[in-house]
Formats: sequence, C-alpha cells, structure tokens
Amino acid sequence: MSIAPDAYADVLARIARAAQAVGRAPTDVTLVAVSKQQPWDAIEPVLEAGQRVFGENRVQDAMARWENRADGLTLHLIGPLQTNKAKEAIAFFDVVETLDREKLARVLAEEIQRQGRSPRLYVQVNTGEEPQKAGVIPADADAFIAACRTTYGLQPEGLMCIPPADEPAGPHFALLRQIAARNGLHKLSMGMSGDFETAIRFGATSVRVGSAVFGARDA
Ligand SMILES: *Cc1c(COP(=O)(O)O)cnc(C)c1O
Repeated sequence: MSIAPDAYADVLARIARAAQAVGRAPTDVTLVAVSKQQPWDAIEPVLEAGQRVFGENRVQDAMARWENRADGLTLHLIGPLQTNKAKEAIAFFDVVETLDREKLARVLAEEIQRQGRSPRLYVQVNTGEEPQKAGVIPADADAFIAACRTTYGLQPEGLMCIPPADEPAGPHFALLRQIAARNGLHKLSMGMSGDFETAIRFGATSVRVGSAVFGARDA
C-alpha cells in the first residue's frame, strides 16, 4: 500500500498553512511532486488526485516514465544535467532547474535555438559550497547569471538550492533569496520533505517534495 493520496492531501494542506502563516497566498507556492525512483503505484493516485507538476532527477528515467503521459503535465528536471543529455532535456522538460556552469549554458542555448523550444530555466546555487554537490557557488552567482543573459542569451527565471543535509536550512534559503533579489530573479525553488515549510517562510515559490508525498523511495 502506498501512503498517497492522504499524504498528498496533507502536504498540500501544510503548504497552504505555511504560506498563510506569512501572509502569502497558497497559490503562490507550487508543489513539484518529486517522483524520481518511485513505483508507478505510488504516483498514479497522486496524478488522479489532480497533481500536474512533477520533478525528476534523471533525463532518461523521466522520459521512460512520462514520455507517453506528459500531456497537461509540467515536468521539472531537478538533477544534474550533463551536456550530452542537453538535447533531450530541452526537448522534453518544461523547467530545467539545474543550470550551473557556462559549458551547460552554451549547449542549452544552442539547443534552444536549434529546437525553437525553451524550457524555463533556474540557476542552481551550491549555497553550502559542498564539493560533492552541483551548483554555482554563491560568490560566482552574480557573474554566472550575467553571463547566462549577455553571453548566452538565456533568461533564467529563478534560483534553486539544496542546503547541506546536516545544517539548518533557513540561512541557506535566506542566502538564495538575497542572490535572487539582487539579480532581479523572482522564482525560488527551495524546500524538500524535511524543510518545505521553512522554505515557504523564506519565500519559496516552489517546493520539491518527494517522500512526504509518495513515501520512501525504492533503494
Ligand atoms: C530527491 C530530491 C528532492 C525530494 O526529496 P524528498 O526529501 O524526498 O522530499 C528534492 N530536490 C532534489 C534536487 C532531489 O534530488
């Protein structure tokens, strides 16, 4: 038995309460339901309950799962993107949240030109400067965003971060919001199962929630 759709309804209610608690409209916050590594049995009830925005961390897995079911859905790539998958990613996703280096910016820009299709783009910031994590470091973020705009003609609409697992997330969310504000970016993808209410308090416009919606992932 999967825990959905009760868990799904519960997450939606918690999002709404967290938004209202800081004077925001619940509709200001988009739930990106992270379906990576979930069995279809866990996903189907959530889809049937009306969820239309899903996040996946691997291009190939996402296409295998959603390619014939993508109608009416909004699909977010939330995992690292290799340049050799850029073509598929541009063709398939509605939002790519992991733009984090110039080589990728260049290849994405070329594919956008070639395909005449442009997903919305987020720049991933490695707020904790963790070596194992993707994302531009905070000190390089302004220059990278500027390069995306002027050198590559890309118009990122927001920022994304994954705070270190062993630190309070609040300061990382605050930092991401600061970087967005000074760069004129209005979307903030931050908050996961363990901290999405905190993220909403700090201004998240979308939260990426997997296990709290679908249950623990397959190993
Ligand atoms: C897996 C993943 C999530 C969801 O994590 P949960 O803790 O299951 O909510 C969110 N964001 C990214 C980038 C992920 O890889």
